[in-house]
Amino acid sequence: MHIIYLLLGGNIGEREKMLQSATLELSEHVGKKLANSAMYETAAWGKEAQPKFLNSVLAMATTLSAHDVLIEIQKIENLLGRQRDELWGARTLDIDILFYDHEIIQTRELTIPHPFIQDRRFVLVPLSEIAPDLQHPTLKKTIAELLASCPDQLEVTKIN
Ligand code: ADP
Ligand code: MG
Repeated sequence: MHIIYLLLGGNIGEREKMLQSATLELSEHVGKKLANSAMYETAAWGKEAQPKFLNSVLAMATTLSAHDVLIEIQKIENLLGRQRDELWGARTLDIDILFYDHEIIQTRELTIPHPFIQDRRFVLVPLSEIAPDLQHPTLKKTIAELLASCPDQLEVTKIN
């Protein structure tokens, strides 16, 4: 069994339903859900002139390899109607692998830990809700510590 943390996000259409459907598909095709954060409405990062995102983080137990997790999440993104366009642009559904156990993976297709975790409050805030004491394998700091020192100022608001 491997423990993975996934970031879900979308900023087009019925964002809440999209994250719920994605969570169901992940439970069916990737593994058992161990924990999920609340959903957060977050200002777009990187390319800011676009609708706000809804984001949440999931912890799951999986028997799949990291590469096979990527294949499955890409199938789910396509199934649920992701519109792929520009980098950091608007999209119906994006699923990123934040961590795969404590592994450090650097291939053509995958960088794990996800390279921007420490720069983005829209990742750190939901992640700290379910895993504040998780240690980042290369930065050697906990999620709570990374959040405390994160310079990102963009709005991240819990919704109910
Ligand atoms: P982004 O998530 O950066 O907005 P995409 O979702 O379109 O952009 O991802 C582009 C590529 O990023 C994917 O085809 C995938 O191969 C690669 N990638 C690298 N590392 C990861 C990771 N940790 N999680 C998900 N995708 C990743
Ligand atoms: Mg992605």
